[in-house]
Amino acid sequence: MSILNFTVGPVMMSEEIKKVGGDDIPYFRTEEFSKVMLENESLLKKYFRAETDARIITLTGSGTAAMDAVVSNTLDTNDKILIINGGSFGHRFVEICRTYELNYTEIKCQFGKTLTKEQLYKFDKQGYTTLLVNLDETSSGVLYDIEMISKFCKKNNIFLIVDSISSFLCDPFNMSELGVDVVITGSQKALAIAPGISLICVNKKAITRINVSKVKSYYFNLKNYLTNGERGQTPFTPAVGTILELNKRLHMIENNGGVDAEIERISHLAHYFREKVKGLPFELFADKMSNAVTALKTKNTSAYKIFEIIKNEYNVFVCPNGGEYKDKVFRVGHIGYIQLEDIDKLIEIFQDLVKRGLLS
Ligand SMILES: *Cc1c(COP(=O)(O)O)cnc(C)c1O
Repeated sequence: MSILNFTVGPVMMSEEIKKVGGDDIPYFRTEEFSKVMLENESLLKKYFRAETDARIITLTGSGTAAMDAVVSNTLDTNDKILIINGGSFGHRFVEICRTYELNYTEIKCQFGKTLTKEQLYKFDKQGYTTLLVNLDETSSGVLYDIEMISKFCKKNNIFLIVDSISSFLCDPFNMSELGVDVVITGSQKALAIAPGISLICVNKKAITRINVSKVKSYYFNLKNYLTNGERGQTPFTPAVGTILELNKRLHMIENNGGVDAEIERISHLAHYFREKVKGLPFELFADKMSNAVTALKTKNTSAYKIFEIIKNEYNVFVCPNGGEYKDKVFRVGHIGYIQLEDIDKLIEIFQDLVKRGLLS
């Protein structure tokens, strides 16, 4: 069944990727598979604009597994942690730090609003050692000002961990210039391959932290991933099929002009949608938007109802919000194998709902 999917993951995949996903899974303790892993590492490092001595850790587990493993393997109770919390993914970092009984302070941002300099600089020169941020807070579509955060962290000598799970390939990012120590992404967002894999890019400072960590986890002891990774392997059986899809996707990006061209393509889709949606009874919700997703605030109609009608009657998926915003906000993703015509179709559906008196 063909669906049109504008959620923020899993997203639509190209024919080439689906073909890789349909193949048998090869045995992976081989030179051939090691070569794939090392190639993935080198291309991902290039796309994150990481330093040459940075490394990529490939985890089998969704993005949250990587968030969890990064916190447990690079931080301990001696750290004084700042968490930017502007929605469900910021909240997830809070819950992870709470789970490990770490010493954290939340900087709460109003939902849909970006972090201001005033909010951040309240914590200047206070001995904080670490900052955790979701570059794009996917639940509201807010893109935080990473330049500002980076300056603050450099000034305070803070270890900077960035969850770029939905922002990677969507918004410009330069790990080494920004002085980001750890950056995380996942397979089912703009990489537009099957879910199951998360990727962590760690710089030298982060590698040192991992190597001295007393992490209490067997499966997610990242030291083992670093040592196995030197020969292009993982400690345990990874999601081999998804890793092969990743390799295909990275080659496709490379052949289509590289990471900048991919960011440009997604940015174009986002801007095209935001232009077309004008005139419909929605407001753009986020005050500073990632190219990955547009959050729309409805006027008189329940946002959740729109999600349901579009799913049930048109076989098209937009992304609902939960909690107190369930009836007020829904999101339209710009990631995955989306064409301009697909956006036109979605706009026509909205117009049809207006005509039918179901949207106002
Ligand atoms: C999708 C996403 C995650 C990870 O979610 P999983 O369901 O574990 O893959 C984490 N952070 C952000 C910002 C995300 O968009």
